[in-house]
Amino acid sequence: MQTDSYDIIIIGSGAGGGTLAQALRGTSARVLLLERGDFVPQEPENADPDAVWRDLRYRADERWLDGHDKVFRPYTHYCVGGNTKFWGAVLYRFREEDFGALTHVDGVSPAWPISYTDLAPYYERAERIYQVRGDSGDDATEPPRGPFPHPPVPHQGKTAGLVEGLRQQGLHPTPLPLGLLRPGEPGGCELCQTCNSFPCKVRSKSDADICCVGPATDGASNVELWTEAYARRLETDSTGRQIVAVVVEKDGQERRLTATTFVVSCGAVNSAALLLRSGNGRHPDGLANGSGLVGTRYMAHIATMISAVKLGEYNNVSFQKTVAINDFYLKGRDVDYPLGQIQSQGHIHPIMIQMAAPAEYQPLAISIPQWFYRLAWTSWSTEWLAMTEDLPHDENRVTLTEKGHIRLTYHQSNQVAHQKLLDEVDRMLKGLGHHFIKPVSLGVGNTTHQCGTVVFGEDPAASVLDPYCKAHEVENLYVVDASFFPSSAAVNPGLTIAAQALRVADHLKARHSL
Ligand SMILES: Cc1cc2nc3c(=O)[nH]c(=O)nc-3n(C[C@H](O)[C@H](O)[C@H](O)COP(=O)(O)OP(=O)(O)OC[C@H]3O[C@@H](n4cnc5c(N)ncnc54)[C@H](O)[C@@H]3O)c2cc1C
Ligand code: SF4
Repeated sequence: MQTDSYDIIIIGSGAGGGTLAQALRGTSARVLLLERGDFVPQEPENADPDAVWRDLRYRADERWLDGHDKVFRPYTHYCVGGNTKFWGAVLYRFREEDFGALTHVDGVSPAWPISYTDLAPYYERAERIYQVRGDSGDDATEPPRGPFPHPPVPHQGKTAGLVEGLRQQGLHPTPLPLGLLRPGEPGGCELCQTCNSFPCKVRSKSDADICCVGPATDGASNVELWTEAYARRLETDSTGRQIVAVVVEKDGQERRLTATTFVVSCGAVNSAALLLRSGNGRHPDGLANGSGLVGTRYMAHIATMISAVKLGEYNNVSFQKTVAINDFYLKGRDVDYPLGQIQSQGHIHPIMIQMAAPAEYQPLAISIPQWFYRLAWTSWSTEWLAMTEDLPHDENRVTLTEKGHIRLTYHQSNQVAHQKLLDEVDRMLKGLGHHFIKPVSLGVGNTTHQCGTVVFGEDPAASVLDPYCKAHEVENLYVVDASFFPSSAAVNPGLTIAAQALRVADHLKARHSL
């Protein structure tokens, strides 16, 4: 087995690992970024709804089991930049209250070991790196902050009218914070209809590949990238207190790579799986798992997509994902607990309707030609996303089968709050004159906002990582991705992952005088 040695090895190049690699560029450390996938090619299929939604061209070709041993294909992507290549680039700061304990109808969302103030300077840096566009407007939930690096993306045509209608309903619509590169400028973002869930055909989405991995590895850099390099397991020394090597599969060979520091950034499910796979005599239940918490408290948002049709009012908008409503984020109209967030969503395409049909109706849905969906539905519809915070439960967890396959046991929490949020969406859309309102929920298969399987905290008995994401039980092991979240909040996770990665980078620089 060939051995190579580095100062820092980062495993995974998404929001966590990619951002960390960018922050370590130019330091004295020799850094290796390992990524199991390859670059997403720039090709016509990038913007082809059939390729993305029917052929699942870019989706990880992997199968996981649910808690009833039913096989499913997770909604995740293995590539340089990870899931950020496919994200909607809605880049929110968590609200100040998300860092404290919040009482929900279904239980308490626990406090974080750091406050909003600790993360605020890193949010600011992350917003600059990902070139976020926004404006706090009159969003009462916006935490204390300076101006956004760039002005918001203006609401186009019909969306502008809807926003005015929402205001007349007494709501407080605000611009969605978006990571788009030079929208409307030559060579920049074209504000197209295939953004969320698609890779950007003109490479103008702020993702971890474009904003971080590319710049980090460009030219004579101290950061090296290996693609198609799968980290199989981590090995410790005989005390179990130090990782000595990662065993990597690349080009059909097993290679053993050594380093001073190891950072696991494989995404919440795969990071937990890697730690569980790496158990040994000193760590019999999985690496750094003395607390028994590795893999537990898996969360995803309770999310429903809504398509709302107003026949007779043609949707002339190319990019409609520009508005958010946070009025129900901390409490409902008639209840004192949080309901969640509503945001406009990218356009629905006929193939998405066909694929979202329940299994028993799918042949029928597919037999109806796509032009009919356009004529009767998608030409007139606007799309929305309702998101409620998911709560951490020990029984919602990642485990490995005897053969090493991933099992994801998951039951959604906070259903009452989510239904109340959907009632608000319904009221809002009917108030805007929509006749047909179709909600779609994806359940366990929707792993897009996965988080919380390797939580951080002060107490080694109640968390796996310390507040700098270092494993309590291992001196040179960090987990820097969505895994560290003790709670999921109800806004999109990406910017918080990136901000904490920058915070960990500063910690590593100070700890190792880099
Ligand atoms: C369609 C879609 C839309 C989304 N929209 C938004 C949005 O608008 N805003 C937002 O904030 N978030 C959004 N998200 C979620 C966001 O993309 C994730 O929260 C974020 O990317 C998670 O970052 P991460 O570092 O935890 O993991 P990832 O970004 O998934 O990165 C993990 C990386 O590790 C690699 N990897 C895994 N296992 C191994 C291994 N064993 N060896 C080597 N490499 C490995 C993977 O290939 C991947 O590149 C969206 C996600 C999807 C799928
Ligand atoms: S052109 Fe703009 S809107 Fe279209 S995919 Fe790229 S970043 Fe998204």
